[in-house]
Amino acid sequence: MEPVLFYVSALEKAPVTLKGTLPVEFLDLAENDTFAAAGETQYELTGRMISGGVLVSGCCSVDISAACGRCLKEFEFTLENRRLQMFFELSEAQEILDVTEDLRAELLLELPMNPVCSETCPGLCPVCGCDRSEKKCSCAADDTAEKVSPWSALDGLDLD
Ligand SMILES: [Zn+2]
Ligand SMILES: [Zn+2]
Repeated sequence: MEPVLFYVSALEKAPVTLKGTLPVEFLDLAENDTFAAAGETQYELTGRMISGGVLVSGCCSVDISAACGRCLKEFEFTLENRRLQMFFELSEAQEILDVTEDLRAELLLELPMNPVCSETCPGLCPVCGCDRSEKKCSCAADDTAEKVSPWSALDGLDLD
């Protein structure tokens, strides 16, 4: 995998923009059972010298496949950071600035805590486990039955 590198000698002359893609393995989500990278990571980063170091700004994005936290179905979404900003201090005589690891860390920070396939996903029925976006089970009917007033049974009685 090609690392994302800035050459300090070039940055000293003018800002440098790097644009490219990183392979699926870049995000390294193999140990993660909720998320998997579904494609290459795209990035466009500009590095510029500022006092004491290098400011790298730009954007990056990658398609992710995830398991919905409500219905457990797999879905894909695009993870992106359009206002990436990273600052790097340079050591004396440093010639190369490798931002690959920092780019990975920034992207991972964007992963949602509770991914859902849709904000309106009804999820699984807590009683029978069926997917409520696909069928209505009778458990839902039981829920509503509980809300009926206990006095309603009296309505049907003939008290005469
Ligand atoms: Zn869902
Ligand atoms: Zn059910």
